[in-house]
Amino acid sequence: MTRILVIGGGIGGLVAALSLQAAGFAPEVFEGVPEIRPLGVGINLQPHAVRELTELGLAEELAATGVATRELRYVSAHGQLIWAEDRGLAAGYKWPQYSIHRGRLQMLLWEACVKRGIPVAAGRRCTGFAQSASAVTARFADGTEATGEALIGADGIHSAIRAHFAPGEGPPCWQGAILWRATTVAPAFLTGATMVQAGHHDQKFVVYPIERRADGTALINWIAEMKVDASQGFAREDWNREVDRGRFLPAYESWNWGWLDVPGLIRGAERVLEYPMVDRDPLPAWTDGRVTLLGDAAHPMYPIGSNGASQAVLDARWLARSLALAGDVARGLRDYEAARRPATAKLTLANRDLGPDIILEEVHRRAPDGFADLHSVISREELEETAANYKRLAGFDPRLLNERESWSVPPGGRAGRPAA
Ligand SMILES: Cc1cc2nc3c(=O)[nH]c(=O)nc-3n(C[C@H](O)[C@H](O)[C@H](O)COP(=O)(O)OP(=O)(O)OC[C@H]3O[C@@H](n4cnc5c(N)ncnc54)[C@H](O)[C@@H]3O)c2cc1C
Repeated sequence: MTRILVIGGGIGGLVAALSLQAAGFAPEVFEGVPEIRPLGVGINLQPHAVRELTELGLAEELAATGVATRELRYVSAHGQLIWAEDRGLAAGYKWPQYSIHRGRLQMLLWEACVKRGIPVAAGRRCTGFAQSASAVTARFADGTEATGEALIGADGIHSAIRAHFAPGEGPPCWQGAILWRATTVAPAFLTGATMVQAGHHDQKFVVYPIERRADGTALINWIAEMKVDASQGFAREDWNREVDRGRFLPAYESWNWGWLDVPGLIRGAERVLEYPMVDRDPLPAWTDGRVTLLGDAAHPMYPIGSNGASQAVLDARWLARSLALAGDVARGLRDYEAARRPATAKLTLANRDLGPDIILEEVHRRAPDGFADLHSVISREELEETAANYKRLAGFDPRLLNERESWSVPPGGRAGRPAA
């Protein structure tokens, strides 16, 4: 069986391993940290990613771990409603959207790999690779090596494998926005499964529940985002840097709108993590022979439109399908890149231009002190178009997603070529 080395046991690498196994390959995961722990806070899995995980047999585990998101609302910095839309099943998708704890999702995927007999090893930090016409060998910091027929670099934003494709690339791009991230146990708000995006480009607050509790409270994930002076620079990105909330709380003191108490949420958090909002420029190529990139290693993007993890899941499934249908490793990896690199490059650039959040910025620019009549500031058509365009770009237009064929590899594998 074709042995495939997957470097990185994050969401992208683990879903790649599960997808490759389902497509008839023998993946092995090498994770750099010595011990897997449920790190991070909330992320969202959009219905296109949930479809892929459902087809991998993980629907029940997801439903037991995440909150099925019911609604998305955009509100101004004054708490005024700009846009509300149904999400997930309520929006007519055949699959839910989940707001979920990133670390718990990673553990769930890790355990699924273990249960399915996929070798997953922690403490194996990859430092580089060498390939020949017939094989690729990964080198690890502990002095060991592993050889397979393909190598997938799913090792995140500081990818050692990406360095091969972008030597001297340097640190990720930072334009001065900082994300402060935390969870707070507080009373559920609105539908109990609503995501709210509030504010504007220079000061935003994103909030959604990731766990509902029987007593009417919820574990609420929130992200406060503000622009600071980018000329000061930023130390290496670390998802787990803990900071004092006094750095940003004063700017949110007036954001208590009754139905949502932003300063209360900030005060109620046990600990606050800080992360610079960074991405990298799209690469001109991410495949070389038997080696390719996936997820954040391939296309780290701003966490706008709640799509980073979902795109890694799509990469993983498309990779497995392309490899199986091509019947040849190098051709399969090229087919994978041909579909996924342009799609994710467009999304990375769209997110730099604020993605669907552009409506917050437009309303703020046109009516910084609030509005009496929303549609004298922004038309319904503009709001509808912005939301629909982004869904199409990111691959979760409801009709297209519901109607498209499955990406599971059909029995007999190579019978057909994948349709994009
Ligand atoms: C600790 C952590 C916390 C995060 N928290 C959040 C969050 O709260 N909200 C959010 O939106 N996104 C968060 N992210 C990012 C989010 O998980 C990704 O954007 C998305 O899921 C895509 O996943 P990925 O698997 O491509 O990359 P990642 O999730 O970054 O996973 C990459 C994996 O590769 C491992 N790795 C790195 N270098 C090597 C190496 N040389 N050899 C072997 N393994 C290596 C890393 O330890 C990691 O497990 C977090 C990422 C990490 C690593």
